[in-house]
Amino acid sequence: MHRGVSRRQHSVEQRQIAVLQELRAALERKEFRLLFQPVFSRDLRLVALEALVRWEHPLRGLLPPSEFISICEESGLIVELGRRVLHEAAHHYAFLVPQGLGHVRLSVNVSAMQFAHGLLDDVRRVVEEFDLPFGALELELTESVIVDDPERAAQVMVALAELGVTIASAIADFGVGYSSLRYLKRLPIHRLKIDRSFVNDLESDESDRSICEAVIALARTLRLGVVAEGVESIFQRDWLRTSGAGELQGYLFAKPVSFAAATSAEPEPSAMAD
Ligand code: C2E
Repeated sequence: MHRGVSRRQHSVEQRQIAVLQELRAALERKEFRLLFQPVFSRDLRLVALEALVRWEHPLRGLLPPSEFISICEESGLIVELGRRVLHEAAHHYAFLVPQGLGHVRLSVNVSAMQFAHGLLDDVRRVVEEFDLPFGALELELTESVIVDDPERAAQVMVALAELGVTIASAIADFGVGYSSLRYLKRLPIHRLKIDRSFVNDLESDESDRSICEAVIALARTLRLGVVAEGVESIFQRDWLRTSGAGELQGYLFAKPVSFAAATSAEPEPSAMAD
């Protein structure tokens, strides 16, 4: 049995090495694409576009981040991939303005390793290159960015805010590592994002409702915005709106789509229903 386990382990490792080689080649061949998922205000106006990366695999088709992000993070490839995502997302700002969408934020996910390896310089470069105004770029950070070196993280975040970048933070992480709750009030965080794991079962799970209420109350006290993600039903939409979530995102409104489709996106007709 022991030999069986180590053989299995060995084949998992072999597979990871093969995927890593494929990922390196994919970066060189520019096989990564961005989709954008709209975020709407309570009154269903488009307020943000979240960039979500996909791997256009030559044989397997369009692959979601769950197939490759963790390997990129473990191997350090995420720094280069993240830099490309940031550049590609920022490049789209110029197309928003002529459509009267200059107020719409471009929101980009950032991994902890990317944050610690040159993120500030990368952001400075894209802000200059694309002449991004204050508030155009939003970074979505998780708590892991803060835990290793909170003081340094705070310095980077303050410098990002000075560049006009807004910062949204996933509350799933803040909830878990509650020690960072105290950083919430010190750091230039503009928005809390309610993870879709808390939104999923809102209708049936009282403790999820309590968590969402607590996040919204915390945001109100700290004067932060709230984005709820993973909204799939009218019940969730109405409950979140009534409870005070300012922005909503989820399949009820729109799925991740091409930039052109996202900017012309009206919320799905079903999302407008009473
Ligand atoms: P996230 O930041 O929480 O992004 C939201 C994820 O939820 C997306 O999955 C989106 O397609 C999905 N989603 C949105 N609305 C709904 C809904 O109503 N129902 C359900 N079931 N799912 C919904 P996706 O695109 O597979 O991304 C997964 C995660 O991968 C993201 O979670 C983010 O953490 C990570 N990710 C995506 N793009 C990047 C990137 O460029 N860089 C980094 N570091 N991470 C990324």
